[in-house]
Amino acid sequence: MKLSLDQLSAISEQHAFEVDGRWWESQAPMPSRLPGRVLEPFRVEIEAHEMGEQVHLEGSLTGTLEFECGRCLASYGERIGEGFRLVLEPAGSRLPADPEAAAALERDGLCLGDDFEMGWYRGFEIQLDAFCREVISLALPVKPLCGEDCAGLCARCGADLNQGGCPCAQARPDSPFAVLAALRDSPEGAK
Ligand SMILES: [Zn+2]
Ligand SMILES: [Zn+2]
Repeated sequence: MKLSLDQLSAISEQHAFEVDGRWWESQAPMPSRLPGRVLEPFRVEIEAHEMGEQVHLEGSLTGTLEFECGRCLASYGERIGEGFRLVLEPAGSRLPADPEAAAALERDGLCLGDDFEMGWYRGFEIQLDAFCREVISLALPVKPLCGEDCAGLCARCGADLNQGGCPCAQARPDSPFAVLAALRDSPEGAK
């Protein structure tokens, strides 16, 4: 996903990219694995213009990843949708203090500041892959859930409680122990 800077003007122009699962897998810093499997390709839409020496980018990123539900362990698709805004200044002869940012500037012609909305560019072309990976990472669910009201698995027999009750609950529905177990097993809070 490369963006030519020398063709930008003061008038915003739309740029669009689409990347699939192979791209997402190639973004994993070895040997770790990225979460999720791409079910629907990521689409990146960017409005870009220049203002003086600054480059302004505003856009959105959408796609669907497959996760495993933290309660019932079923696979489900979750749509990732994230907007972003980025103002880039020419790095000139400046070097970022952070070695990772310095490496990114060298590699991608682009590095981000601390607040993720400001950055520096160098050269006539910026490589957006690392930036998009960051945007996706920020949008990933901390605690993947197939649904807010997922009932999860029975702690005793392992049955998927979304599919209906299990023998354990039916056996002693009103026992105080069942109530306590339900409380104990209910996952605390949302993601
Ligand atoms: Zn679930
Ligand atoms: Zn059960």
